[in-house]
Amino acid sequence: MRAAVQHETGRDKLEVLDDVEAVGFGPGRVRVRIRATGLCHSDLSAMSGVLPQPAPFVPGHEGAGEILDVGDGVSGLKAGDRVLMCWLPACGSCPSCKRGQTHLCLAGFMNAGTPNFKRPGASPSEVFGFAGTGTFAEEVVVAANCAVPIPDDVPYEIAALIGCGVTTGLGAAFNTAKVEAGSSVAVIGCGGVGISVVQGARACGAAQITAVDPVAARREAALRFGATEAVAPEELADAKARITGGEGFDYVFEVVGRSATARTAYETTRRGGTLCVVGAGALDDTFQVNMFELFFDEKRILPSLYGGGDVLRSYERAIALWRAGRIDLEGLITHRVRLDGINDALDQMRSGTALRTCIEI
Ligand SMILES: [Zn+2]
Ligand SMILES: [Zn+2]
Repeated sequence: MRAAVQHETGRDKLEVLDDVEAVGFGPGRVRVRIRATGLCHSDLSAMSGVLPQPAPFVPGHEGAGEILDVGDGVSGLKAGDRVLMCWLPACGSCPSCKRGQTHLCLAGFMNAGTPNFKRPGASPSEVFGFAGTGTFAEEVVVAANCAVPIPDDVPYEIAALIGCGVTTGLGAAFNTAKVEAGSSVAVIGCGGVGISVVQGARACGAAQITAVDPVAARREAALRFGATEAVAPEELADAKARITGGEGFDYVFEVVGRSATARTAYETTRRGGTLCVVGAGALDDTFQVNMFELFFDEKRILPSLYGGGDVLRSYERAIALWRAGRIDLEGLITHRVRLDGINDALDQMRSGTALRTCIEI
């Protein structure tokens, strides 16, 4: 079958190959025919080496498709079921799950070092899947709890987005920051995840939502999705002075994943306000806060991983809000390609012109 492969970390182009097989089918696992997948910024970060990921690998972790086959012992799923891919499934029995912090469950991640694909006759023959999934492929084999059934009225391309970017962004506002009605919010970084934070903040009833991004097209998009103002990064200090009287925003979301923007976000947060860190950053990029400001300004620093709450509940909430017309998910898909056009999709994401590119497989 066909899949897009990153041969080694640091390359900026993928190769679409037709000699790839999904491996590991057996008890407790399911085989899924991927129908649609989104390109998330984390895929680029894995390709460049910002996020740790063994190579060669198939990127993609935001996908949806149809169950082809279920292994022994799998209940609640059958061939033909429509599912979205959950790249961070909860086991239900580890200490994190028992505490109710199912988004911190690492049980599913323990398989991340096991190859998901192979290329018979190639060297190396073992191929990994990014985040244990690898959705830039026609088929994947995953643990049954990575395949979450979706209602019939949710198209694959919408379900794919809910599988990562939308859940991450909405959840940061709903679950982690718990944005209060009437509050002031700034969102730094307005790609697909940042726009989802904007939509989440609007759904929470934020009075002011200031979107911050260097790309004009993204600022314009943010206004369409509910931001009350959109500024370039160099205009943020002025916006803070004008909108908050210099005090700072009640909530600032960092959706870039760099210490420099996190520091700006910290300084843009009011005393006693909340800095919510959503961006996925690098192991060697250190965020610094001095001990005086840390205690004296009492700013809450809240990281948010994959929406920071029960992911199954977060999926349901996203679908309910989308169905009611309270959030716009179709509008997030600015570009569409087939798998052969995957490198065009990477360029669109790097140039900042795409919120989400949907790859039909
Ligand atoms: Zn667990
Ligand atoms: Zn993602």
